[in-house]
Amino acid sequence: MSSLTGKHILSVDDFDRESLHSLYRFADLLQPIAAGERNCTALDGALLASLFFEPSTRTRVSFGAAFHRLGGKVVETSDEKYLSLKKGESLTDTARVFQGYVDVVVMRHKRTGAVREYAARSESPVINAGDGSGEHPTQALLDGYTIARELNRVDYSLDDLKIAVVGDLKHGRTVHSLAKLLSLYSNVTFFFISPTIGTRMPQAIRDLVQSRGHTVYESRHLCDGLPSADVVYATRIQEERFTSRAQAQQLRGRLAINLANYNRWAPHGPPIMHPLPRDSREKPMELSEDLEDLKSFAVFRQAENGVAVRMALFAEVLGLEQGYVLDEMGFSVHERQERWRKRSEVLGDRPDQEPAARSRR
Ligand code: ASP
Repeated sequence: MSSLTGKHILSVDDFDRESLHSLYRFADLLQPIAAGERNCTALDGALLASLFFEPSTRTRVSFGAAFHRLGGKVVETSDEKYLSLKKGESLTDTARVFQGYVDVVVMRHKRTGAVREYAARSESPVINAGDGSGEHPTQALLDGYTIARELNRVDYSLDDLKIAVVGDLKHGRTVHSLAKLLSLYSNVTFFFISPTIGTRMPQAIRDLVQSRGHTVYESRHLCDGLPSADVVYATRIQEERFTSRAQAQQLRGRLAINLANYNRWAPHGPPIMHPLPRDSREKPMELSEDLEDLKSFAVFRQAENGVAVRMALFAEVLGLEQGYVLDEMGFSVHERQERWRKRSEVLGDRPDQEPAARSRR
């Protein structure tokens, strides 16, 4: 049984190298189901509650897609105003009720620590889908998986990695979780590049990675990290976490990466990643559109990997063995059609014929 079975997944701290790599091996096996090439009924009868109390596109949909692809069903709610929370119910009471309804809960909340609070009263496993500017552990899981795949690290090890992490590192929960995850490896070099002192990576995370023997450089300029980076990880300014919108506006586009500066400072072509959404309202974006034709533009492959990784996580948390899931993997719709077509050919039957004509033969 996986070490994650029955556990809440609240932080990257819930993982070590071994559990990460076993999750990644599982995700590799699940790729055909994630891509819709195979169907699967392993979670038939299981119910997921998807509770998103903060905006989400990819995380919410990819968690739901992952659960559906494994044969389970999803109930969701995405606005506290339609829940009894609005009438003053506590999160902990909600948790105690939901544990009687569903097998597993995925939750996002705008307050750091709220998901942990909920999980403390839930007997059903709870997965943190992002809590305030705290953590976003499943994003880090898929980021680590994507880095390994993009760099062709077949054993998934990210030892000796050099990574440039760019953007609002203070409020960005994905980069907090990613830094923690990478610190499980050895000899990682972090170039933390943020536009101002006020958007630096929090001290606690810098201290943690340094205490694990990694190297940290901090800068406000892309040219200080991109030339040596094996991978470039950009993030947006987390406008919703600033006290004033105007303050955030001043920082937008300060560290914009475009084809010209990427070619200049990273001519060796490191993969470009971003947890999305990128800010596309008006130029300059933090990752410009002219990068998109590059082979190294890994952003959409990264988003796609979210489904397989989240499927593997559900399977492990709910105690499904790899062999069982693979046994429950059926033929794809396309393959079933192919099989029926072949069968019809053998029988000399043609679907376009009238039933009467067929029965005469
Ligand atoms: N989607 C990510 C998150 O929920 C990144 C972002 O919002 O910038 O944290």
